[in-house]
Amino acid sequence: MTTRLNDVSKTYAPGPRARTRSTTALHPTTLTLGSGVIGLLGPNGAGKTTLLRLLSTAMPPSTGRIVVEGHETTGSTAERTAARRLIGYLPQEVVFPHGMTAFGFLDYIAVLKEWDRTDSRHAEVRRVLALVGLGERSTVKVRRLSGGQRRRLAIAQALLGTPSLLILDEPTTGLDPEQRASLRRILSELEGTVLLSTHQTEDVSALCDRVVVLDAGRVRFDGAVTELLATASDHVHVGPLENEGAVHTWRTGTGMVRSVGGLPRPGATPVAPTVEDAYLLLRHQTRDDSPSRNEGVLR
Ligand code: ADP
Repeated sequence: MTTRLNDVSKTYAPGPRARTRSTTALHPTTLTLGSGVIGLLGPNGAGKTTLLRLLSTAMPPSTGRIVVEGHETTGSTAERTAARRLIGYLPQEVVFPHGMTAFGFLDYIAVLKEWDRTDSRHAEVRRVLALVGLGERSTVKVRRLSGGQRRRLAIAQALLGTPSLLILDEPTTGLDPEQRASLRRILSELEGTVLLSTHQTEDVSALCDRVVVLDAGRVRFDGAVTELLATASDHVHVGPLENEGAVHTWRTGTGMVRSVGGLPRPGATPVAPTVEDAYLLLRHQTRDDSPSRNEGVLR
């Protein structure tokens, strides 16, 4: 199960009245995505949604090739269709057609995905409804579902047909801790590639095998979560005073100061870094660094 991006970039054209300049949201990027759950981290405007939309075939790249299990999404219509059959996509916002039930919505999406046989299609709709914990709500109109239930319904449509490449844009937004835990279980049981973007660094530690950090349209880190954590070891301290030149500091509930980066002062002790600590340090270290090319391999 492999997806490859070769020198993929995206530049948005200026607005219709040319009041805005063109924006390069993703600089030429080469990545190989293998099996497992891969987290995409980055600040707002980093290019995460752009990368996910390119992979989902929602829009074509400006340059480069994307190949999903041997099918080039940027190739012929037949190739793109073959690739699309392997992809499940949860956009940041899903617009639900008016007046449909939860079951009706998923059935409609399954029809669009060319699921012709009614009995197997309905069985699949029931399977994904149960998977996201909405089995009992199948006949309820979508507008009567809570925000968290609608988000789970949106996740369910991405899971239809057990895609080889599952692309999730901010899947945990709007979910409570129990629902997050249940999503974690669903994702950990999938066999293909799951690529998810998130603002929550705890999602990365809980869900992901690998992490890609994007910033200003470039890959700043690409590796195992443990490798990201290792970049921050011996750089996080707790003590009575903040580290000299710390990147971030805050007072903890015990009254001690937690410092990320900088030189420890007397009385400070090193503590195990979290993904958030490592991410904050990385952001600080790479702010002025602008390589011309993105390269990375995700196993
Ligand atoms: P993220 O998901 O990390 O917040 P995006 O991919 O949404 O980042 O955006 C990356 C950059 O591309 C931002 O500067 C954003 O303003 C710009 N951008 C995104 N979508 C469009 C668009 N449709 N037209 C023009 N610029 C866009």
